[in-house]
Amino acid sequence: MLTGMQIAIIGGDARQLEIIRKLTELDARLSLIGFEQLDHAFTGAQKEKLAEADLSEMDALILPVSGTSLEGQVETIFSNEQVILTEASLAKTPESCTVYSGITNPYLTGITKQAKRRLVQLFERDDVAIYNSIPTVEGTIMMAIQHTDITIHGSKVAVLGLGRTGMSVARAFSALGAKVKVGARKTEHLARVTEMALEPFHLSDIEKELRDVDIVINTVPHQIVTASVISKMAAHTLIIDLASKPGGTDFRYAEKRGIKALLAPGLPGIVAPKTAGQILANVLTQLLQSDLKNREGKVT
Ligand code: NAP
Repeated sequence: MLTGMQIAIIGGDARQLEIIRKLTELDARLSLIGFEQLDHAFTGAQKEKLAEADLSEMDALILPVSGTSLEGQVETIFSNEQVILTEASLAKTPESCTVYSGITNPYLTGITKQAKRRLVQLFERDDVAIYNSIPTVEGTIMMAIQHTDITIHGSKVAVLGLGRTGMSVARAFSALGAKVKVGARKTEHLARVTEMALEPFHLSDIEKELRDVDIVINTVPHQIVTASVISKMAAHTLIIDLASKPGGTDFRYAEKRGIKALLAPGLPGIVAPKTAGQILANVLTQLLQSDLKNREGKVT
């Protein structure tokens, strides 16, 4: 249970509703900031504005997966009002208050450091990233179906990167009957690709290896599908770039060459917001329960 905890949920999309549902079930007291247009009412949760909320007793602030923009703006699907998180707002919270976010950027890292508040990035955790790869894969399959006129079965697919997302993508496309090759730079990753009965290639050979594929799925968050790589691809190739913005593809050049290249951020929130929200809600519950235990340990 989370009885006695006060938590502010600041902004977010449908995923946040699962977090609100779970935390209120566990008896936490919630302030919902940036939710004025949400019709549903949750017992134990009160809608408030950031400027008017009493942050002085908050045990935690929960931000959306995206955290804030580089100007401090928090994404609010359920509000028309701008919510800007500042160092001054953080300074109103108790020193023990933890800020939970999906990812961070220099702005969010900066204000939490200046205010001396702990920042936890949920997407840095392997468990969250691996669970999250499940709806990501389903979204990628959806995009491949929508944007090609061939079946995945029998198609030639190149996956770039064998991290938490790349491994799930490669396995799922192979299970659907695609001929999958995976590009990586570490020898242990190339060995793992071989063990998975897929075709490995070193990323230094990317230009040669992408010449004859139907779909390229990039998970490497660095410019890797460069103009030079794209210039040698077959004209019908579809590039689905899953890496976080700005992706790893030269989109300008792809457009110029007439190759369809799609940056596809936030697929879990689009194709399965409920599941994606439950993944976050489950891990947040564990973390908040451990925060509460530590706090009680300090009091007794
Ligand atoms: P990850 O586990 O860290 O995997 C990243 C992969 O990229 C690793 O194989 C890594 O290899 C490789 N890599 C990183 N920098 C590289 C470089 N400079 N050159 C070559 N390879 C490089 O990350 P992840 O959890 O799989 O996520 C991958 C990306 O997808 C992230 O940007 C994440 O934000 C994004 N993502 C997007 C969605 C969506 O809906 N679109 C969903 C989930 C994740 P090494 O081990 O050799 O560094």
